[in-house]
Amino acid sequence: MIDSHCHIAGPEFADDLPAVIERARQARLAHVLVILAADDEPEIEQGAKVVEQWDAVRFSVGVHPHAAGKFASNPAEAARRVDDVMNAQPLTRGLGEIGLDYHYDFAPRDVQQQVFREQIRLAHRLSRPIVIHTREAEDDTFRILEEEGAQNLGGVFHCFTGDRDMARRVLDIGFHLSLAGIVTFPRALELKEVARIVPLDRLLIETDSPFLAPVPHRGKRNEPAYVSRVAAVIAELRGVSVERITEATDANFARLFVP
Ligand SMILES: [Zn+2]
Ligand SMILES: [Zn+2]
Repeated sequence: MIDSHCHIAGPEFADDLPAVIERARQARLAHVLVILAADDEPEIEQGAKVVEQWDAVRFSVGVHPHAAGKFASNPAEAARRVDDVMNAQPLTRGLGEIGLDYHYDFAPRDVQQQVFREQIRLAHRLSRPIVIHTREAEDDTFRILEEEGAQNLGGVFHCFTGDRDMARRVLDIGFHLSLAGIVTFPRALELKEVARIVPLDRLLIETDSPFLAPVPHRGKRNEPAYVSRVAAVIAELRGVSVERITEATDANFARLFVP
């Protein structure tokens, strides 16, 4: 099983990282994709410590839309920073999370868009898949992805929370769709519907730790070991074995982010 999106190099895990990794091993996670924020020096340093303890990790590096404002005067600098961090960390496989967040609007929208574009262009130069974060910004996200030719890059819409129509748009541009703990919430009926219909060869699972712990851990700090709950709920919704889900999502992850 694989957690395809987590933030275990963040401060929430600084005190007990070895125990978190041990529980992930016990849960038989083959890999985890650890997201590093290119503008967050402590997180990047901690990333190196994560590798020392667990060489099964892979990294994805990006400037999150929340942080885009730091690069308002020079969006290309965001991509340059990402490039530097990727070069310094040999286990980097993806570029992200990048995208648009109009829910929080922490950075002006035009700045978010420019920083997003610059990073997609870098992904083209490096031939890396991208990890997309999008919230309440569906149309602009797809427009930019199309304008920047991202269908040739591939990647994943992480923590997907859209409806069937949006899932269709993700699949139409050749991207994968990753489900997080929200799919375990009783009221997430539309998302459960998406979990039933997404083709198995386009599905990934994730925790987005430390956020969004699945039922029955809801409200607590999330961690990679809990990705098994996401797999179990999707298996139940589709009426297949958990192994079927983990085999498919492992293979999809391997295609995108391994070796
Ligand atoms: Zn995100
Ligand atoms: Zn994230």
